Order: sequence, then structure tokens, then C-alpha cells
Amino acid sequence: MSDSSRARAGGQEAEAVNDAGPGANVLSSAVVAVAEQGEQSHHATRPLRLRCPVCGSGPMRTFLELTGIPVNCSVLLASRPAAREATPGDLTLAVCDTCGMIRNVAFDPSLLVYDPSYDNTLHFSPLFQAFSAELAQRLIDRYDIRGREVVEVGSGKGDFLSLLCELGGNHGVGYDPSYAEGDAWPVPGADVEFSAQLFDADTARGTADLVCARQVLEHIDEPLTMLRSLRAAIHDHGGVLYVDAPDASYLMGALDVWDLVYPHCSYFTAPALRRLVGDAGFEVLEIGSTFGGQFLFVDATPSDQPVAQPDDASSEAGAVSELAVQFGERFAAVVEGRRQLVERAVADDRRAVLWGAGAKAVTFLNVVPGTSRLDAVVDVNPRKRGMFVPGTGHPVIAPEDLVADPPETIIVMNPIYRDEVRSMVAAAGVRAEVVAANEEGQP
Ligand SMILES: [Zn+2]
Repeated sequence: MSDSSRARAGGQEAEAVNDAGPGANVLSSAVVAVAEQGEQSHHATRPLRLRCPVCGSGPMRTFLELTGIPVNCSVLLASRPAAREATPGDLTLAVCDTCGMIRNVAFDPSLLVYDPSYDNTLHFSPLFQAFSAELAQRLIDRYDIRGREVVEVGSGKGDFLSLLCELGGNHGVGYDPSYAEGDAWPVPGADVEFSAQLFDADTARGTADLVCARQVLEHIDEPLTMLRSLRAAIHDHGGVLYVDAPDASYLMGALDVWDLVYPHCSYFTAPALRRLVGDAGFEVLEIGSTFGGQFLFVDATPSDQPVAQPDDASSEAGAVSELAVQFGERFAAVVEGRRQLVERAVADDRRAVLWGAGAKAVTFLNVVPGTSRLDAVVDVNPRKRGMFVPGTGHPVIAPEDLVADPPETIIVMNPIYRDEVRSMVAAAGVRAEVVAANEEGQP
């Protein structure tokens, strides 16, 4: 962090003295200084879009503001200078008191690019692979998806779609604008095809028996339009929709603040997702949380009937609003706690690295002061090796690079992977302390 970081309060821009860390300069709980972007901090301010994209109520209530975080947080750069010049954007979170939806009301979709350089796959983690396999089997068994037509929107490298098709003998079509020919990893023998086309209502054919959109909806500027397109893709009778997205209630309750990333314009909660899916013409079959509580999911089926909201919908939304305001207040304390963790890790010139070069790491490195003293970021995805983190410019190395030059401390971005990392480095003979960037349920 440099002294060029800025914090904004009440619409006014204020200089923040940053070297002392955010605990010293956070002006109020909801204001945090971010970024090392120099002149680029002076980008034009867009009007905030305060109308709720789910229920249409407004204005939504703002509760947290970060300025100057890299917008393409999942795109690593080939050189350090390019990484440090990555486009910055603002994140202003607001909550809808009526339906519990949370949005980045400063979101500017024109700043984002999704192309083949967008590499957000979690596929390399055995834990995530196991989760995907279990999910595929559950959908196949519960809805008898065998010998059927399956569509996945945001299919990435195609691994999940391949699983669905292989395990159920289905035919699958995957849509992903970041798809590049030869880039997919279909399971051998799986009957799948891929398109780099953006999925919309024109693409939809109303023939799919199962439509999946995993970790997609949070990126979509107009989620209701997207859900209606998915509705148009599905068989009217007995077709099934599966959608999952990060659970904003989990994120806020667990203070998992590193999941705040620019590409996520929407942060879903159960009442907001239920309402959205209902308004798009679906009946909710099941809604719940999965992947250690981190994801919110919904199974739904097309319905012609208007969907009544449950009686407790407004109290649920009220609880979300309260949680959001508390989250805004506690955010600064979390950042300060992580500043101290980094400082301890690098004290006395000890070598410390971060583990996980995903979007969470980009937020962590760009928000927490003092992270420039971390040597590198380790990632198991070989495609990321030799690349640089947008904003801060940290180099990305592979786990095997740790053997030659072992660190004293490894800070793991996602606590859910800590044990996995601990056994992986122990097996490689690296004796480093492995700590989580933030404990589950603890700031
Ligand atoms: Zn709303």
C-alpha cells in the first residue's frame, strides 16, 4: 500500500494516510482505504444505481465502500508493470430492505472483460472436485437426469458438464464466453459440446431437461433477465434448474471479506434468490447452502403459477439488512487483524507466502496494508505460474518452487483448504507453518 490510497465518506473523497495501516486511518466503519493505483484513483465517479435489481424497490442502503480494487480480479498478468497498471474499480455495497438482495451499486459492467484469459476454475482442488462429483450424482439421481439433454451456462473448462454427461449418459451443451477451442477438459467419452457464445434468450431452445449455472449469477448485471433466459431454455414439464452462487449471508456472518471482488456485482441471500427465481417463472424445489455453507443453491422447475413468497420473507430480508450493517462496521477490524497477521508472518525478515492466487487473494493483497512484504503467491494451477497479481504485482509460483526456497509461513486464503495445503507441503518436505487468512466463523 502506498500513501496514494483513498477513502471516501459521505460522497466526499478524503486522503488517507496509509502506511500505519487501516486501523489508524479508517475514517468510519464503512470506509476503507484501498489500492496502490496512483493517478488511476481519480477515475470518473458513476452515479450509484440504488434500485434493487430483484424486487425493484429503492433506494438500497449502502453499508461498505472500497475504492480502487482491480476489476479483472481473476486475470493474472504476464508482467509486473502490467499487473500494477490493471484497471481499478469501486465497490459500494448496498442492501435492499425489502428482499434482502445485496449489490455493488457502483458496478460498471463496461470495465469487465471475459475472454479466454479469464481463468477462474476451481477444478484443481481435490475438495472442489469431490463436491462437483457429489452434486452431479445428486442431480442425476434426484431428477432422473439419464439419457437427457443438459445445458450448462458458464461451463468454464467443461469439467462439471462432462461429469453430468458421463455419469448419466446425457448429452451436454456448455456455454461460456471464456471458452477457447481445445481448452476444455471433457472426460473421454462424455457426449459434450461447447460454445463461446454468450447464453441469452435467443440461444435458449426450451429443450433442456436440466440447466445448470454454477457461480454465474453473481456476475450478471441483470439477474432477472438471465433467469428468464434460463427459463426459456428448459422443458416446461419436469425440467430442472440448478443455480448456485456465493452465499452473502455466509460471507457476512463469517466475515469472509475476501470474497468481495469487483466481478461480483450481486451478492445473493436466500430470500433474494428465492424471490428472483420465483419472479423468473420457477417453482423452488429446494433452496439451501452447500460447500461448507459458502454457496447458496436452488433447485427449481418451470411453473405457470405466480409464486407466493413465504410469510417470513420480509423478516428474513430484515435480518439480512441488519447483518449487512454489522458487516460494514466489522470490516475495518478484520482488515486490521489481517494486517497484524501479515506483519507477524514477515517479522525479523522471515519469508512468508500466500497460498491461492484466486480472486480472494487479489482482494486480500490489494486491501490489507503491508502485503507487499509477502514474497509470492503459490497456486496449484500450473497455468498461473510465472504470472503476476493485478494491482499489487506479486509473482505467482508453483508449490514445487517452495522446495528450493521454503518459506517460514504459508497463509492460506480459504480456510477450507488449510488441511489440504498442510499435507501437501509436508509431503514435499517443506516445513512451514500453515495458517489461514481467516478462520471460519472468526474474524
Ligand atoms: Zn429488493
